[in-house]
Amino acid sequence: AKSNGRNALQRFTPDLGKRADERLALSRRMRAALANGEFRLVYQPQVDLQTNRVTGVEALLRWTDTELGPVSPATFIPIAEENGLIVPIGEWVMQQACFQARVWQDTLPGLRMSVNLSPRQFARGDILRVVQRALARARLSPRLLEIEITEGALMTLGALDVLRALRAMDIDLAIDDFGTGYSSLSYIRNFRAERLKLDMSFVSGIGRHREDEVITRAILSLGRALGFKVVAEGVETETQLAFLRRHGCSVVQGYRFARPMPAADAHAFIRDFNEG
Ligand code: C2E
Ligand code: CA
Ligand code: CA
Ligand code: CA
Repeated sequence: AKSNGRNALQRFTPDLGKRADERLALSRRMRAALANGEFRLVYQPQVDLQTNRVTGVEALLRWTDTELGPVSPATFIPIAEENGLIVPIGEWVMQQACFQARVWQDTLPGLRMSVNLSPRQFARGDILRVVQRALARARLSPRLLEIEITEGALMTLGALDVLRALRAMDIDLAIDDFGTGYSSLSYIRNFRAERLKLDMSFVSGIGRHREDEVITRAILSLGRALGFKVVAEGVETETQLAFLRRHGCSVVQGYRFARPMPAADAHAFIRDFNEG
């Protein structure tokens, strides 16, 4: 009966979460998953092209439901944002990522941890306390934490104050999915992030679509002129890597080097990469 149930559910997986009843079912399962400790973090290395070393990782959330199997964050995060569960889930992510970053300081000193914050978390007044508590419990230096926010989050009410406060705490900021949101240019003029993350949609067009190459070059040169480091995400091929290198990209992240991995695998990968 269980395998039948699984097949029945899997018929919907390409569009899972599109239907209202599925969203409700996923919401219930997510709530239980949080209570039962079923969420995991995986870590994707970021390679500095100047030094050819892994200098940081991005923490990415994973959830394998007992019935549904692995559910993509692209499916469950939007639902968690809608029903508010992203707030407690995001707190768990922040704490877990800080603990892991602290553990890694003994063997991979200076490795920095990037954590995604959703607009919904960002809009809450207690986000500063959440971050401070996670750092304190993990005894992690704020300098080793970076927060990734999308352009959408920048535009939420009070965002600039929160950003200033995070910066005053010595936490770095990265603007995620750069180039895909609204008002990119006017917003980056008003506050300083350390890094722009060039969206994967542009990177994947390198070597295939002239427009994507033009936009990529423009963002790299804009970043350089304004003093941002540009991180290219979703780098999969040698062609993309060579293009990014040639045009002065600082940091790359993508399957070309490493997929997101459980902590032990990420640790082994980074140790080998930085020694080799
Ligand atoms: P994102 O922050 O833009 O994360 C990058 C996504 O690209 C990740 O997908 C990563 O696995 C994937 N990726 C990295 N390199 C490559 C590559 O070379 N090729 C391809 N095709 N994909 C690559 P993932 O892990 O499925 O996450 C999807 C989105 O879900 C994230 O996009 C982010 O918006 C959200 N997300 C994931 N974890 C968290 C979290 O802890 N908190 C919040 N608020 N959002 C999260
Ligand atoms: Ca991200
Ligand atoms: Ca991104
Ligand atoms: Ca994205």
